Amino acid sequence: MRNRRAALAAVASAASLALTLTACGQSGEGGSEENKGGSDGATVGIAMPTKSSERWIADGANVEKELKAKGFKTKLVFGEDDPDQQVSQIENMITQGVDALIVAAIDNKSLGNVLQQAKDADIPVVSYDRLILGTENVDYYASFDNEKVGELQGGYIVDKLGLKAGKKGPFNIELFAGSNDDNNTRYFFNGAMNVLKPYMDKGQLVVRSKQTDLNQVTTLRWDGGTAQKRMDDLLTSSYRSARVDAVLSPYDGISIGILSALKSDGYGSGSKAMPVVTGQDAEVASLKSIISGQQTQTVFKDLRELAKVAANMVDAVLDDKKPEVNDTKSYDNGSKVVPAYLLQPVSVDKSNYKQVLVDGGYYTEDQLK
Ligand code: BGC
Repeated sequence: MRNRRAALAAVASAASLALTLTACGQSGEGGSEENKGGSDGATVGIAMPTKSSERWIADGANVEKELKAKGFKTKLVFGEDDPDQQVSQIENMITQGVDALIVAAIDNKSLGNVLQQAKDADIPVVSYDRLILGTENVDYYASFDNEKVGELQGGYIVDKLGLKAGKKGPFNIELFAGSNDDNNTRYFFNGAMNVLKPYMDKGQLVVRSKQTDLNQVTTLRWDGGTAQKRMDDLLTSSYRSARVDAVLSPYDGISIGILSALKSDGYGSGSKAMPVVTGQDAEVASLKSIISGQQTQTVFKDLRELAKVAANMVDAVLDDKKPEVNDTKSYDNGSKVVPAYLLQPVSVDKSNYKQVLVDGGYYTEDQLK
């Protein structure tokens, strides 16, 4: 039986009845008033990947807020980017008897065994932001249109360099991708390459390092320091006598690392202009960098909306209802096509950050000073 909420409610009302009967027969104390909330006391375990990036801290807080507003109890854990730690955290939550799980995986392929335990304990699982691969035991997927994220990054570079408008270049570009154990990485990269590749084929864009395959450009655990080191190496090996005009970066933390390497090499001062550098997540440090003219762009994903989608999914599943989904074909995890609700990302730069983020109530003007 999936409907643990109904089961919990039944147990609660039996307990309440027993208390009332006892009270009538004995001391006159009142009956139990428990489980008034919409959840009937159900607890949702939330496993987030790391606290090292602002976005996941916000995700944890937003998801808890949405669930609590529906009357659920929550257990929130962060995995310090360590896949083994995340597995034991989820195991613990299963042992503690959570009624549903919301999981943003660290390593998308490492959760098969622990999700089998969840299945055996009849605990539904929502894959949060990152699709969990290689297991049937993922019920729903809440995320953004991940390919679109890459298209927005690639498209921004094309616009900024004036390629569509006919500028011939050739312009030099280097490519960075996210962690190879995150399923989103290839969606972001492929989305960007769909847009950039035609210009690479025509010679308007040139990758001097020749590192154009996804497996040559990934950044383990999305680490900014790793990206900085790779950018340093690229500048030394391929840009002694040439300039970088654009860097495709999939995430703000990586962009910050890339910008540090560029700055150390003299970019951003004198006649050496900063290249176009993309990003993702609209993190505060990157927005400040965009406002001060260093990073060029980021992709904003409204995490408040993502939290609502995930909470609604859990709420529906525990009620034996079908959650709202808007994509039933894109996300095949190797064992099944996981029904998904995908939100839309938005490209943000200096020209529209106020409108999108400040007027949209995501940040205050003061936070970005
Ligand atoms: C998320 C991105 C984030 C990245 C690094 C991805 O799975 O979709 O929003 O930038 O992880 O944390």
